[in-house]
Amino acid sequence: ERPLLMIPGPIEISDAVREAASGPPPGHLAPPVIAAFGQALRRMRDVWLSGPSSQPLIVSGSGTLAMDIAVFNALEPGDRALVVHTGYFSARMAEMLRRRSVEVTVVSAPFGEVPASAEVAAALARAAEAKLPFKAVFVTHVDTSTGVRADAETLVGLARNHGALSIVDGVCATAAERFDMAGWGADIYLTASQKAIGLPPGLALLVFSERALEARARLTHAPPLSMDLDAWLPIMRAYEAGQPSYFATPATPLIMALSVGLGEILADGKGMAARFALHERAARAMRAAWASLGLTLVPAREDITANTLSAIRYPDGVDVSAIPRILANGAIVAGGLDPENKAKYFRVGHMGYSATQPAHLLRTIRAVALGIGRSADDARTAERAAEAVLT
Ligand code: PMP
Repeated sequence: ERPLLMIPGPIEISDAVREAASGPPPGHLAPPVIAAFGQALRRMRDVWLSGPSSQPLIVSGSGTLAMDIAVFNALEPGDRALVVHTGYFSARMAEMLRRRSVEVTVVSAPFGEVPASAEVAAALARAAEAKLPFKAVFVTHVDTSTGVRADAETLVGLARNHGALSIVDGVCATAAERFDMAGWGADIYLTASQKAIGLPPGLALLVFSERALEARARLTHAPPLSMDLDAWLPIMRAYEAGQPSYFATPATPLIMALSVGLGEILADGKGMAARFALHERAARAMRAAWASLGLTLVPAREDITANTLSAIRYPDGVDVSAIPRILANGAIVAGGLDPENKAKYFRVGHMGYSATQPAHLLRTIRAVALGIGRSADDARTAERAAEAVLT
């Protein structure tokens, strides 16, 4: 049996998504592509809960490109930005801002922690008092390097209260962790196709609020052409209106898959609340299994523990050599990513399609248990702990 891909992205995908992306690639002006593109844009608003005035953007690339697109369209040289640092991907965001010649202030927390909202509020207040306000606040919703989830709702609210744009990296969160873009008033929420969206890698996906669109319109230093909202907006609007259009060739097989993948997310008709609850339950099941095996997690507390992945500390006597043994038992998992702590933990993804497949979750639990040297009995007990949550 093929081992399950249980890293925190890319992940297993559904048969319907795989079929939609297969076959000879259609042209970018083919009517089925235009229809799928328009439908994908509309479905993004439903999945992001971003409201009718928001603007979705679909561009070929990965999450890193989506991050750069957000940075380069919202800010320009001389602007100030606040980065809420929760790990490796927040550090990447700060580096991108510096390369845009933005003045960056970082609010940090130790490994496995998130900065207290009060600290973020204090940094915003100090900047306002000094009459050097931040133009934007950056948050990594789930930092995939640590499995820590930031309180996006509170941080978006703080940014708004200070007149700053809120820009949230949802690469390891969008379509899995609770996020209400319009309700909270967030300005850019970005992701990539290969995580909870349930597609192969290859698409950068962003939704902009009206305020974010205005921020681009006011820039005096345009972004590089390939990532400029001004260049892409007419294309997105044309596709949504069912019109052929061209600026740069879209990844047509992935566009076909995207409308299907987003359709699956929305298909049960129960809305995003049910989708978020599905991930919360899958994550609770995985945590019950880890607890049954006596394993501890990197995130310091339950309320900052992501539902999309588990970052698990190696128990005594176990190290990175467990990863190939876990693979030999049927699941591909990932090592640590935090530069200073990566030897201490490993990561298991359980988002998107995987979260909908109890059998996949149980097989993964078994593979981890056996891979770290536990008995078949221990593995079975861990599976039962998860089953009790799932059923
Ligand atoms: N942000 C987060 C939170 C991520 O998890 C990742 C990918 N693991 C990225 C950004 C970068 O995305 P990509 O690898 O698709 O460029």
